[in-house]
Amino acid sequence: TIILGIETSCDETAVAIVKNGTEIISNVVSSQIESHKRFGGVVPEIASRHHVEQMTLVLEQAFDEGQITWNEIDAIAVTEGPGLVGALLVGVNSAKALAFAKQKPLVGVHHIAGHIYANRLEQEFDFPLLALIVSGGHTELVIMKEHGQYEVIGETRDDAAGEAYDKVARMLGLPYPGGPHIDRLAHEGKETIDFPRAWLEDGSYDFSFSGLKSAVINKIHNAKQRGEMLKDEDIAASFQASVVEVLTKKTLRAAKEYKVKQVIVAGGVAANKGLRTALANAFSETDIPLYVPPLSLCTDNAAMIAAAGTINYWNGKRAGLDLNANASLLLK
Ligand code: ATP
Ligand code: MG
Ligand code: FE
Repeated sequence: TIILGIETSCDETAVAIVKNGTEIISNVVSSQIESHKRFGGVVPEIASRHHVEQMTLVLEQAFDEGQITWNEIDAIAVTEGPGLVGALLVGVNSAKALAFAKQKPLVGVHHIAGHIYANRLEQEFDFPLLALIVSGGHTELVIMKEHGQYEVIGETRDDAAGEAYDKVARMLGLPYPGGPHIDRLAHEGKETIDFPRAWLEDGSYDFSFSGLKSAVINKIHNAKQRGEMLKDEDIAASFQASVVEVLTKKTLRAAKEYKVKQVIVAGGVAANKGLRTALANAFSETDIPLYVPPLSLCTDNAAMIAAAGTINYWNGKRAGLDLNANASLLLK
């Protein structure tokens, strides 16, 4: 089965072609980061316009690189949500136009299901599995008992992990997106500040990062007022230590409680070196295998959408030409 995937939920215009949900034939990502950098974040109107400008080029490139023709494509999978509605609409409308023109089935995909299925491009799933999703807009623990079935056992009550990274980075005057910069600084600094860990109620798998974010902001303000010298590297290291400890411990506890056969990590923050190391250490002491996708598959791409779309296609899920973008689509 060969699926064409289209992703435009945020600021990357991406098209990919994937075989059987496991083998990348081509994977093209056009990032708009440079256009959004000077605003310190993604500007929705600019994102939509870029998607419109880039879509045809990215699509052509995906076919060129894959050395493949439309005849060989079985279906078109597109991110229907969640994300920026104007951005999503460009992908959804492109997919609908192509499905109509080329007479191909259309399949809607949840963006986070895509992030999860990025892992299947590297490693076959073994159920039940636990997925830790840490992205710009989501922080979730999800149990999967079979393909295409998702049970959210914990999620953030306020900011997502990536969002917290980006906000703290902004406070430190680092460019957007800040996650990778904080990650780099963290490795040059020392954990000298004791920032809070939001464990929440006993047994909860939920997360909260807004308290941590405020603690960082207060610390920076207070230090400034007192003329105290705080090294950005140490702030980054201390902030990252708090995020990583909470994510790692909750993931480990959930993996044991649900007796999973596999743990997979997904989303942009899965690229974080501190998190990758801490999770690898924690799970090395268990017999549960841990998988983390390569960096290029952690952040937004369309190969993951095609991979998740393959499962929906196999499960007989089809979208009509009335498919609409849904900015707050739920994972289920
Ligand atoms: P969502 O998937 O929830 O809709 P999104 O698509 O914007 O959100 P992703 O593209 O998955 O999010 O990830 C982007 C986020 O990952 C940004 O917040 C970015 O700062 C963060 N990120 C990327 N690399 C790293 C890193 N090395 N350390 C920490 N955070 C990182
Ligand atoms: Mg992005
Ligand atoms: Fe994403």
